[in-house]
Amino acid sequence: MKTEFILQAAQAVNEAILANESTIESLDREIGDGDHYINMKRGCATVLAMRDELALLSPDAVLQKIGMKLLSTIGGASGPLIASFFMAMAKTVKEQGAETLPQTATAFAAGVEAIRLRGKADVGEKTMLDVLIPVARTFQQLADANTERTALFEALKREAEQGMFSTRDLIATKGRAAFLGERAIGHIDAGAKSSQVIIAAVCDLAFNQ
Ligand code: ADP
Ligand code: MG
Repeated sequence: MKTEFILQAAQAVNEAILANESTIESLDREIGDGDHYINMKRGCATVLAMRDELALLSPDAVLQKIGMKLLSTIGGASGPLIASFFMAMAKTVKEQGAETLPQTATAFAAGVEAIRLRGKADVGEKTMLDVLIPVARTFQQLADANTERTALFEALKREAEQGMFSTRDLIATKGRAAFLGERAIGHIDAGAKSSQVIIAAVCDLAFNQ
């Protein structure tokens, strides 16, 4: 994973978030407070505005800078979680590099683990982790098994979709939706949806690398 890929991914993620405005907005309005789309849009704009400065840095420094900046710009419950993802990923990339897919998968898994620790949440609590944890696990397994790239990224997109849809039938035990109890059943979690959209966008980009 090179700096250029991270910057291209930021562009692709921005486009994907903008293209899913109404879905993400309405999901957070149904069982949250309606600001998740705005939070994600602000995060994307912040990263894109740093592009020239980031282009000069190594991948680990890029991830660290993004994490630190997002901590103060995204806001909400998701801001510190997403910031911790980037900072943990930066640390792992710095320690072990990210030249190969298994290394990139390990760094991604470290980022997801940081969200899990910071959010004190796990699979089954109707959050972004219902997408991120299974994707991280599958990414590591398939990359370690040297799976062909197209099959690997297709599998990750499928895993993300399954995780996103799985939140529909769950009661939330973390985040704002936890206040709704059983009334949250039947609604997909907004953070799970935005995570799925982001993973699909990055996988589509990675197909062509
Ligand atoms: P807020 O909840 O403060 O309005 P956002 O709307 O930006 O912030 O983000 C809400 C999303 O954050 C939820 O849809 C959920 O996926 C995720 N989330 C909330 N709390 C947690 C947590 N403790 N652990 C992991 N993810 C969480
Ligand atoms: Mg919200």
